[in-house]
Amino acid sequence: MSGGRLFVIGLGPGDLALLTPEAQAALDHCTDLFGYLPYIERLPERPGTRHHASDNREELDRARAALTLAAEGQMVGVVSGGDPGVFAMASAVFEAIESGPAAWRALEVTVIPGISAMLAAAARVGAPLGHDFAVVSLSDNLKPWPLVLERLGAAASAGFALALYNPISRARPWQLGAALDHLRGILPAETPVVFATAVSRPDERIEIVTLAEAEPLRADMRTLVLIGTAETRRIARGEGRRDWLYAPRKVSA
Ligand code: SAH
Repeated sequence: MSGGRLFVIGLGPGDLALLTPEAQAALDHCTDLFGYLPYIERLPERPGTRHHASDNREELDRARAALTLAAEGQMVGVVSGGDPGVFAMASAVFEAIESGPAAWRALEVTVIPGISAMLAAAARVGAPLGHDFAVVSLSDNLKPWPLVLERLGAAASAGFALALYNPISRARPWQLGAALDHLRGILPAETPVVFATAVSRPDERIEIVTLAEAEPLRADMRTLVLIGTAETRRIARGEGRRDWLYAPRKVSA
C-alpha cells in the first residue's frame, strides 16, 4: 500500500510557544503519534489521532512500529523533545530503515527540526555558545565511558565550549561527577558552568556556578549542562539578577 508518510517531529524544550508552526502542522496531519511517554503526554489529545506512548529505552522498536504503520498507508508522527536529530528518534528511524524491509526505503520521511535544549538553555543566560562549541551526551548506554571522557577532554583542550546532554539518571549516577573532575584537570577553576533544568517548563531552574563549585547534585534527568571556556565572559548584574554569560566574537590564537 502507498500514501503513508512518516514525520519525525521535534517538539522543542517544553513550552508550546517553542514548538514551530511546521511541527504543529505535522502533528495536525498525523493519524498516529509515537514517542516516549512524557513527550506524548505533553500533546493535547485530538479525535482521530492515536497516541502510542512507550518507554525511553525502546527507541528502535518504536521506530519500527511507526515505519510499519506508515508503510500500511497511515500518516505517522514520531516525536522527540527538542530536536529529533539531537540524541533522539531521527537516528533510530534511519537505523530501522537501513536494516528493515526494502519498502521502508521508498517511504516519504520528513524530519522536522525543533529547538534543542542547548539552544533554549544558552538563550536563558546570554550567548555562551556564541562561538565554537561541542555537544556531548554523557550517557554511556550506547557508547563506552572512556570515549566520553576522551571526547570531553579533546573538546575542552581545543577551546570548545561544551553542551552536555543526559548528564545524570538513576541508572547513571556517577558519570557527571567523573566528567566534571576530568574537566577540572583541563580548564581554569573559574570557568562558568550552567545547570539549566527543565528549561521553558513551569519548574525551570537555571544556576550559574564556577567549574570549581560545580556539583552533580545540581543536575537531574532534565538538566542541560553548559561549560564555558577560558574566554567566556561573565557580566555580573548584582543582587537578584542573573549574570550574563557570553562567548566573545573574537578569539585569539
Ligand atoms: N532531542 C533533545 C535531547 C534528548 S536527550 C533535544 O534536542 O533537546 C535528553 C536530554 O536533553 C536530557 O537529559 C537533558 O540533558 C536535555 N533536555 C531535554 N529537554 C530539556 C529542557 N527542557 N531543559 C534542559 N535540558 C533538557
